[in-house]
Amino acid sequence: MNQPLKQHLIDPEICIRCYTCEMTCPIEGAIVHDANNVVIDADKCEFCMACIPVCPTGSIDEWRIVNTPYSLDDQFGWAELPEQEEILTGGGSDAATSLEALDDAMAALLADAHKGAGGKAKAPATASKPTINMYNLANPITAKVQGSYRLTAEGADTDVRHIILDFGGKPFPVLEGQSIGIIPPGTGADGKPHLPRLYSISSPRDGERPNYGNVSLTVKRHEQGVCSNYVCDLKMGDEVQVTGPFGSTFLMPDDPQARLLMICTGTGSAPFRAFTMRRQRTVGNKSGGMVMFFGARTPDSLPYFGPLGKIPDSLLKKHLVFSRIPGVPKSYVQDQLIVEEEAIADMLTDPNTYIYICGLRGMEEGVEKAFTNIAESIGTQWVALRDTMRSEGRYHVETY
Ligand code: NAP
Repeated sequence: MNQPLKQHLIDPEICIRCYTCEMTCPIEGAIVHDANNVVIDADKCEFCMACIPVCPTGSIDEWRIVNTPYSLDDQFGWAELPEQEEILTGGGSDAATSLEALDDAMAALLADAHKGAGGKAKAPATASKPTINMYNLANPITAKVQGSYRLTAEGADTDVRHIILDFGGKPFPVLEGQSIGIIPPGTGADGKPHLPRLYSISSPRDGERPNYGNVSLTVKRHEQGVCSNYVCDLKMGDEVQVTGPFGSTFLMPDDPQARLLMICTGTGSAPFRAFTMRRQRTVGNKSGGMVMFFGARTPDSLPYFGPLGKIPDSLLKKHLVFSRIPGVPKSYVQDQLIVEEEAIADMLTDPNTYIYICGLRGMEEGVEKAFTNIAESIGTQWVALRDTMRSEGRYHVETY
């Protein structure tokens, strides 16, 4: 049985056949072309990355984890890239096998987080193709901490941090809505290495800083949390072991006209920061149709409270909902959905509306009830509508 390996490929749908990569490649015969495609020889490519920055389209930046590399002939015949296959290796050493089992456990964790969607989740039709499982427990990537700062006010009852990780020019292609695994160092009480924890990326696909190959995370410190304390205590320059990316359905549509209804609690806001930045970077502030319902205890403990306030309503209509402001009745996102019933009903009737729910698992029930009531108010049955939306890749849940 072959060990899985990472294969460098070129996307034939995007490549403009300028052959710049082939001319730049320092290794004779590692990049070649025929009349159809420009391709990379897996036996010769040494991952020097010289070809990556010179490609004008980005078609060169494609990677698949494979058991058996695609041959040159395979690649010459492609009209489009094959999907990333599920890589489940057999054989190998016991250590490798148990690492694979752990990677499977990570995938299962994410599948569990998505189960609130109520059925098989599906990516939006116009979403870009995600890369998944590029790095795993047997083969993590090392990232360096580029920055870490506290998002919640000093003295607020929650310590939420914004962490920026840099991959030092190594490929780590992510899409908004995907997650990565962080492996805390050391071992648990059972003497076994700690398992990774999943965090959504909160930066858009081109990076926290555009084209600098970095990602950001939004992490809340939990008193007993092994990984959250590790991540929240990281200092600039520290090295971190990372796996992923993970997730192939909780993705945003590429259609700039698509209306996004984003409902989150606490750090569940992470993917929506990424969605918003992606829209802002691609179509600017004039794009309408993004609406957010964001629940937190207080303004002091709402991650990105300041930056959110600066985003114009034309791009993102914000409904910030607070549960613990002294002297003010507790309010949850589902309560505010009802307050905005008319606007939500309008979105529900639009076939170009996409719903995303992210955060505490407990919020699901209340949000479902709110949708049921709003749908009823316009003579629609929520469960049927939700199932249609899900089958069209327009209804997404990620809750823990
Ligand atoms: P939190 O601060 O404990 O709560 C945020 C808000 O949600 C509070 O106002 C809370 O109100 C409210 N809330 C509690 N129960 C609710 C319910 N049943 N319905 C609606 N609102 C409710 O949140 P957190 O600790 O940041 O938790 C965020 C969740 O997002 C975690 O489960 C995390 O795993 C998940 N998540 C995190 C990431 C990431 O990348 N970090 C990504 C995806 C998901 P009260 O407490 O005042 O009642």
